[in-house]
Amino acid sequence: METKLNGNQVVEIGNIKVGSGNPLVFIAGPCTVESNEKTLEIEKEIKNAGAQIFRGGSFKMRTSPYSFQGLGYEALDILKEIQMPSISEITSIEQIPYFEKCVDIIQVGARNMHNYELLKALGKTNKPILLKRGFDATIEEWLYAAEYIIMGGNKNVILCERGIRTFTNETRFTLDLGAVTYVKKVSKLPVIVDPSHAAGKANMVKPLALAAIAAGADGLILEVDIDPYNAVSDGDQAILPSELKEIIDKSNEIRKIL
Ligand code: PEP
Ligand code: MN
Repeated sequence: METKLNGNQVVEIGNIKVGSGNPLVFIAGPCTVESNEKTLEIEKEIKNAGAQIFRGGSFKMRTSPYSFQGLGYEALDILKEIQMPSISEITSIEQIPYFEKCVDIIQVGARNMHNYELLKALGKTNKPILLKRGFDATIEEWLYAAEYIIMGGNKNVILCERGIRTFTNETRFTLDLGAVTYVKKVSKLPVIVDPSHAAGKANMVKPLALAAIAAGADGLILEVDIDPYNAVSDGDQAILPSELKEIIDKSNEIRKIL
């Protein structure tokens, strides 16, 4: 595959380095930013558990237009004020300047992986980009999507496997760990894994997370909530901060063995 990258890419978020044998990165937080108070509470909990970066949705790509669509710019304002570095999902080109101002990593979600105009525009920023694999995307399509960003001049791309759609209904998506191992071998980019959206259920997140680290992932992005039952989106797959801590500790042990 053609690439504009020369060597292994290490993506830096402040003093956090992702990829190429650097310590595992753990990104955690709620599916959606719901309020300033809840965000600050979750931030405190996930920081104590050992996570380095806060995740929180702002513009949500919901299947149903009747579902909560996210707080939008208000969520970004909340993320701008927290102390941890943060990441949120972008959904259109016109949002780029606001994202640049408020978050430390811009996430391209699975549903926008094929949005080439958005990818080209993100190639012009110097913010790190987390590029999720589309649930219908081949590995080649995913890597070429990354190349759209890199070609524009932004080499700070982290790939994220989050499950693909197969014939199975028992899991929300099928986590493709073969893809993680493969991409770690052929691509120079860091690769992290989102076990939460693949599992769809909180009690399946830990085994998938640990398997991802064993498969060679450079880190994890996990949905964590202090009150999953009342979460406005994806509460079924949200783990508690105590479970996050266990995942982080065990992941670091697995990394040591490897
Ligand atoms: C998310 O991270 O909140 C999300 C919607 O993920 P995905 O794009 O992988 O579905
Ligand atoms: Mn979610």
